[in-house]
Amino acid sequence: MSDMNKEFMIYDSMLRKKKPFKSLQPGKISLYVCGMTVYDYCHIGHARVIIFFDFVYSFLKSLNYDVKYVRNITDIDDKIIKKAVAEGVSCDEVTKKFIAAMHKDAASLGADSPDLEPKATSYVDNMIEMIGSLIQNGLAYVSDSGDVCYAVAKFADYGKLARRDLSALRAGERVAADKSKNDPLDFVLWKLAKPDEPSWESPWGRGRPGWHIECSVMASTLLGRTIDIHGGGVDLQFPHHENEIAQSEGANKQKFVGSWMHVGALQINSEKMSKSLGNFFTIREVLAEFDYETIRYFMFSTHYRHPIQYTKENLQQAERSLERMYVALRHSGCDMAPVFTGLEYNNFIDALRDDFNTPKALAVMAEQVKKINIEPAGSGSAIRMGAVLLAMGSILGLFSAGVDGYFNLDSADSVEIDGLVKDRELARDEKDWAKADEIRDKLLKEYSVEVEDTADGSIWRRF
Ligand SMILES: [Zn+2]
Repeated sequence: MSDMNKEFMIYDSMLRKKKPFKSLQPGKISLYVCGMTVYDYCHIGHARVIIFFDFVYSFLKSLNYDVKYVRNITDIDDKIIKKAVAEGVSCDEVTKKFIAAMHKDAASLGADSPDLEPKATSYVDNMIEMIGSLIQNGLAYVSDSGDVCYAVAKFADYGKLARRDLSALRAGERVAADKSKNDPLDFVLWKLAKPDEPSWESPWGRGRPGWHIECSVMASTLLGRTIDIHGGGVDLQFPHHENEIAQSEGANKQKFVGSWMHVGALQINSEKMSKSLGNFFTIREVLAEFDYETIRYFMFSTHYRHPIQYTKENLQQAERSLERMYVALRHSGCDMAPVFTGLEYNNFIDALRDDFNTPKALAVMAEQVKKINIEPAGSGSAIRMGAVLLAMGSILGLFSAGVDGYFNLDSADSVEIDGLVKDRELARDEKDWAKADEIRDKLLKEYSVEVEDTADGSIWRRF
């Protein structure tokens, strides 16, 4: 196994460049990722964030780091209240239902649970405390409407993450400006309650926390005032993460995050996914059509910082690429005991050490597939190479179906089938079509195996 003495590079969105990663405490990494607002089923855009950070989590652990991964659950929000009202149920019923659905979907994608999944409503006291500190530090005020707002202009570093032109943003906001705020960019920390909404007692009257404050509070309460890595979708960079910095650094007077990681958007036909455009897919809908390993492969085929194009064709392409890998594994004769060493394995890990470059890592795997396919099936060298391919896949959460599971084999007769498929390929090479057809019939009748001829050779599958 690789170890943590060799450094890895991480692209820090704050610096806009790659830097060698250095954890605050030797051997330990604190990782905070903004999670879901639980008012509906998770969509395929959420799947990208879930799968990518699941991989980051297991990859860092494979480098022998002691990783603590926290992903919050937003269980108080306007959208939740709206849904509860529309369905005539309590907010609690809405959030319970969709938290259970989210757990099911994440597990169906082969993603491990984070170490902690704090719910915002369990940390309201801590939020009230942080808002109090912000008022004390002169960074927050009670507005004319009675809400507590953050005074953005008082925090000198505001805008350092997103690097937005604040005056242009102010001009844009002014049209719809809330007159009770001192500055159009000020955001709400504590919202006064409307009747029939969930609310908590506070020094500023009954109300509920704004969204941004929950992440600052849960990150510092569970991981400390400075954390190693903060992740989330790129759409959260502004204003959510900018506001998290203003809150955490404004209250704690120390640096909030060592490295910021943002996952690019998932686009559908180059457009933003949205319900109103009708191009919206839940994780469940996609899983009904594609295997979860195919979805993982698809997500890893684009670098995490770039936008990814979700199309059926791209998913099908991922499916074929994954199948080629399983075919090579079967050819190798290795279906267990992964080997985490060797030049190829190190090349694979080096790609991932370079800012989690999964497309490059998949290219190393494709090279390994080519090498396996020119070895005699089931030979010692093929088995060794297969064991390395298996190890690479395990880091990405692939190949857990196993060769037999993937090809729907109930017995170990795949070597015989492979032999027949090879004989048929030879017959085709010699243009002995009658023999090729005869073998095809035998495969179908005796083994329920269908053969497909592709540019890379024949692929077979049992039904
Ligand atoms: Zn957050």
